[in-house]
Amino acid sequence: MSRTALRICPLCEATCGLTLTIEGTRVTGARGDREDVFSKGFICPKGASFGAVDSDPDRLRTPLVRRDGELREATWAEAFDAVAAGLRPVVEEHGSDSVGVVLGNPNVHTVAGALYPPVLLAGLRTRSLFTASTVDQMPKHVSSGLLFGDANAIPVPDLDHTSHLLLIGANPLESNGSLCTAPDFPGRLRALKARGGHLTVVDPRRTRTAKLADRHLAIRPGTDALLLAAMVHTLFAEDLADLAHLAPHVQDLDELRVAMGEFTPEAVAEACDLDADVIRTLARELAAAPTAAVYARIGSCTVAHGTLASWLVDVLNILTGNLDRPGGALFPQAATDRTPRPAGPGRGFALGRWHSRVRRLAEAKGELPLSALAEEIDTATGEGEPIRALIVVAANPVLSAPDGNRLDKALGSLDFMVSVDPYLNETSRHADVVLPPPPPSQSPHHDFAFNTLAVRNQVRYTRPAVPLEPGRMAESEILARLVLAATGMHGADPAAVDALVIDQTLGKAVTEPHSPVHGRDPRELAGQLTGESGPERRLDMMLRLGPYGDGFGARPEGLSLARLLAHPHGIDLGPLRPRLPQPLKTRSGKVELLPAPIAADLPRLGEALRERPAELVLVGRRHLRSNNSWMHNVPALTGGSNRCTLHIHPVDAARLGVRDGADVRVKGAGGEVVAPAEVTDAVRPGVVSLPHGWGHDRPGTRLGHASTAPGVNVNQLLDGSLLDPLSGNAVLNGVPVQLAASL
Ligand code: SF4
Repeated sequence: MSRTALRICPLCEATCGLTLTIEGTRVTGARGDREDVFSKGFICPKGASFGAVDSDPDRLRTPLVRRDGELREATWAEAFDAVAAGLRPVVEEHGSDSVGVVLGNPNVHTVAGALYPPVLLAGLRTRSLFTASTVDQMPKHVSSGLLFGDANAIPVPDLDHTSHLLLIGANPLESNGSLCTAPDFPGRLRALKARGGHLTVVDPRRTRTAKLADRHLAIRPGTDALLLAAMVHTLFAEDLADLAHLAPHVQDLDELRVAMGEFTPEAVAEACDLDADVIRTLARELAAAPTAAVYARIGSCTVAHGTLASWLVDVLNILTGNLDRPGGALFPQAATDRTPRPAGPGRGFALGRWHSRVRRLAEAKGELPLSALAEEIDTATGEGEPIRALIVVAANPVLSAPDGNRLDKALGSLDFMVSVDPYLNETSRHADVVLPPPPPSQSPHHDFAFNTLAVRNQVRYTRPAVPLEPGRMAESEILARLVLAATGMHGADPAAVDALVIDQTLGKAVTEPHSPVHGRDPRELAGQLTGESGPERRLDMMLRLGPYGDGFGARPEGLSLARLLAHPHGIDLGPLRPRLPQPLKTRSGKVELLPAPIAADLPRLGEALRERPAELVLVGRRHLRSNNSWMHNVPALTGGSNRCTLHIHPVDAARLGVRDGADVRVKGAGGEVVAPAEVTDAVRPGVVSLPHGWGHDRPGTRLGHASTAPGVNVNQLLDGSLLDPLSGNAVLNGVPVQLAASL
């Protein structure tokens, strides 16, 4: 007998609602949930392969513990004993910072990944935190922190209502969107065009998204910030800047005008390889459109001027009056956001509160650059102690960080390492203990992070579609026990972790005058929480305290877990609405248009005007059936066009003697890889493209299918020295490389 169950898809940022078909305890099918309030039935090939991803036979079923040099199956009790025995002596002898924590991108795709790592970091008190953000979107966090005073206040384009979208370095027809959660992103772009809207795509590759555009500009990689600066210059020069409703909330306009002085369209045209008149046209169109949004993503973030480009995107939205208005770029309001405090000055955003030990790289948002992880382990020089133990949660930095070979060696030198990972992959193979979470069908789902980036306010929650298999441990319990083992409380009841968070959160809420529970008894409030587990009680608490919550009775019609459970397809909370000045947490209480760190970095952008472009540069590539390194072990999602090939333009191929299908040696500052060439005019001349997340050829992994077509690790071409200085983000695009036909 088969049955169906609802499950929000965790396989990308679009968060589609799925209807799973289940035979016994096995997911045998997935289709889009037509009644889902947000995704309305949309599904992509990854979501359709949910069952195959879920039941991959290479998923680990039991913990592994290293004994006599070999990872062997163990009980959960043995595994956590080993974690406590491995971590605590390092903390006690060498201090908290000698334990590094690495958080991978899948953490934002699970309930437990959102709820427990912050508790781990607070309990461990380590400053050695590294995450996937510094090989991805950290520049956007930093620019938001500087402009708005909150690194997580990221405006998203109002896709469903805008009449003009300028999309830079993003390919949502393949990625399904990023920092902009929008199920059926392709359909929403088509709808934009159908209602007479205009779509411009700026990308060195003619992507599927670019093919849909009214205009595609194949810019030189790494020069988005120059293009955007010249557009800002044009708005000022032609008196097109109009803050409109934003005027009372914005400062430093005159200073910005002066700072943009040298970035004329003519000055940047050669570096960007775009016509100056085209740049002016882009600015004029933006100013003239009834509503417009500029949206930029990975291609503009993972470059040498990533923070400046991210900042300029919002500057353009502000100068055209499009920030915080329908059809422009707005701040979403998620159901689990903290109770909105009254508008007014905040604490502001600080960078560089501490630095890495070896290269003295500044922290951003509490994180050190992932590019520095290897040296923080393998280099004794510098202040303080090297990292001697590592806690890795859902991360595979051997493939995702620059110079994976160096990191591979460094991981082998650690005193202790624990990985929370469903796979024995290129990174977890170094662990002394591997703690495997259950497959997605056996876990609950709520999008804590992506709802703060969604193009429509809504809230959804799905309980596990399938009961936990015997011998499995819920991911929330794994992480709660990890918190206890790492913080000297090994053996305590894992429920104590949730109870502590609930006590602290409610204890604080009752002291806040703007909170709906101000002045109440936190124990009485805790007694009202519902839910079958600690994470559910925490979700109930967050919903009830949040902007749409029932305030524990203060607003009886408001949200609670019980109300959400009564709406299995979710609750629509309406379109994005203007919110300024409430989200601003700058010290001035205003949008600080030209923050000091940005102003100090602008001369470096000026220098880029005078740099000679490299003859050949590398950019990345995304495929619809892929997501970083996660899914290469699923046969249904590999093969066909999802292959690790080097895209090269026919002109470059002819010049360099590269034949279609032949192996090419690609050399970068960090090393070289050999990949088959795919000669295509989908990349502009002077640019080659390799996808990331590949390179599944290291011994000791258990990725049967991925290792049959391993591909190459593009990050091996990097040496980790190229960073965006403000954010510490790795430069992954626009990197100079050399090619030679392979022997
Ligand atoms: S678009 Fe993303 S969330 Fe939607 S089905 Fe595909 S992988 Fe899942």
